[in-house]
Amino acid sequence: MPELVVLREGCGYLPGGVNAGVVWGTEGRAVAVDTGGDRDAGRNLLRALESRSLQLVGVVNTHSHADHYGGNEYLVRQRPELEVWAPVLEEAVLRNPYLEPFSLYGAQPPAALQNKWLMARPSPVHHVYDTADGELEVAGLRLRVHRADGHAVRQAAVGYGAVCYAADAFFGTEVLWKYEIPFTHNVAGQLDTLARAESWPYEVFVPGHGPPVSREQLFEVLEANVRAVRQATERVHSAVGSGATSDEVVHRVARTLRSPPANPSTYFLFRSTVMAHLAYLMETKEVEWTVEQGTLRWARR
Ligand SMILES: [Zn+2]
Repeated sequence: MPELVVLREGCGYLPGGVNAGVVWGTEGRAVAVDTGGDRDAGRNLLRALESRSLQLVGVVNTHSHADHYGGNEYLVRQRPELEVWAPVLEEAVLRNPYLEPFSLYGAQPPAALQNKWLMARPSPVHHVYDTADGELEVAGLRLRVHRADGHAVRQAAVGYGAVCYAADAFFGTEVLWKYEIPFTHNVAGQLDTLARAESWPYEVFVPGHGPPVSREQLFEVLEANVRAVRQATERVHSAVGSGATSDEVVHRVARTLRSPPANPSTYFLFRSTVMAHLAYLMETKEVEWTVEQGTLRWARR
């Protein structure tokens, strides 16, 4: 069973497929920052806290991807007094997980897409917070919120003491190498977040996926993320070639990956990211679209 890793006084995390952050005060009252993807992750978190005599009283979710809030439902069931904080807009998905596969598919998704990778169990949300930079008091602890939109519609990075729980504001370098193209909702927002993250005042940064990053390592990791995003835009731009439908662009970019999507869930996540880069290229006036005889085609300008 994973154990809580203490990073600084009052700050730790539970390593996993998704790292769950944990912060606590002198009275042993603890707040989790994200809860992992499912009931097992929630159970591991609760056990790890109990073994250190910490009492979980709050959960702050950074965004609404199923792998970050899937432990909520179990935790709220075990601790009915526990309260959940979620960002504005994202909170709707926690309460209605159907919105995630719906947004990726664009209509009622086939039942096969309504799976645990894209849909966690619904979670109550007791408090909605804005992802603007500022303070957030949770169960008597003064947390700091940093706007980290881009990867998700409204995402926050959460700071406490010397530690920043950056969630998916950036990815560890091994994760980047594995996936090559980081998931994004809004490319300009993601680049803006990566540019600002350097100024967040912490000693340790815990990404959602991958090991903690020290202040000394941060610049290099952020640079690797910026490179990955920019290369993704270039791949999408060159895939448009002399003109292509959306599906042709998706297919051409997928063929450049070491491990292209191999099931419908990863395909639709990947497709959504390609569509985000196409929208970005349209805003930067590098591509345009036309609809002729019922077919939408992308072209370079
Ligand atoms: Zn995410």
